[in-house]
Amino acid sequence: MIRIAVANQKGGVGKTTSAINLATALAATGWRVLLIDLDPQGNASTGLGVHQSQRVNSSYELLTGDCTLDDAVIHTKVPKLDIIASTVDLSGAEIELVDYEERTDRLKQALDGATPGRWDICLIDCPPSLGLLTINAMVAARSLIVPLQCEFFALEGLSQLLSTVERIRARFNPDLSILGVALTMYDRRNKLTEQVAQDVRACLGKVVFETVIPRNVRLSEAPSHGMPALIYDMRCAGSEAYIALARELIGRLPRAAKAA
Ligand code: ADP
Ligand code: MG
Repeated sequence: MIRIAVANQKGGVGKTTSAINLATALAATGWRVLLIDLDPQGNASTGLGVHQSQRVNSSYELLTGDCTLDDAVIHTKVPKLDIIASTVDLSGAEIELVDYEERTDRLKQALDGATPGRWDICLIDCPPSLGLLTINAMVAARSLIVPLQCEFFALEGLSQLLSTVERIRARFNPDLSILGVALTMYDRRNKLTEQVAQDVRACLGKVVFETVIPRNVRLSEAPSHGMPALIYDMRCAGSEAYIALARELIGRLPRAAKAA
């Protein structure tokens, strides 16, 4: 199972929207997908229509070792897409986990326990911080997708993210790489957007996905209906962009993973 974390310590850049819609696009192409909601706000869980009453075992219990992966898995309404939901309890985890042994390894160990072959890919939706939850995601994952919002301060904070990746690589996970940077909320009519996109590409080069995600109201409406945009409105520009991004993502995976 290939594991990818969707991370950026800035809030509101499109992490959750990307995690939900990439997961759905991958499931639609036949991949068995596990999405892990690692944000105490639980937006990925809500956006996939997982009711609070279903979240008996969540990513919090998984990290503290109070449940197994199997106990926490919830089937979503999207065929082939399962989720480990989150609850507000997770907001305490950053502090509580400090007292645990191997506190940076909790998620990795839980995922290592997955039944082989049950899922082809796992996406981890990170919270907007570089704390212990995101570190757990970076230790558990093989690579990262970094959404960047096309606005003036897009690159601000990126060096902090990259130095965290370096530290994780040096200490815990030498294989960790950045699979791609995804430009989100791209607004064709806005000159600044185009300038920002050009600057980001000049600065980061090929790691930036060619596909850009447009600013699209359907993407922001879908979560309130408890479904991915890809199901809410398959033909909207946002859904089409995420399908293209998923295709590009698959193209960047090692060959062995694609055969899965
Ligand atoms: P993050 O997880 O990084 O905090 P979200 O994915 O939750 O970011 O996005 C922040 C807000 O912007 C949400 O209300 C979401 O619906 C909206 N949004 C995300 N991507 C787009 C987009 N491409 N077009 C329009 N709205 C978007
Ligand atoms: Mg989010």
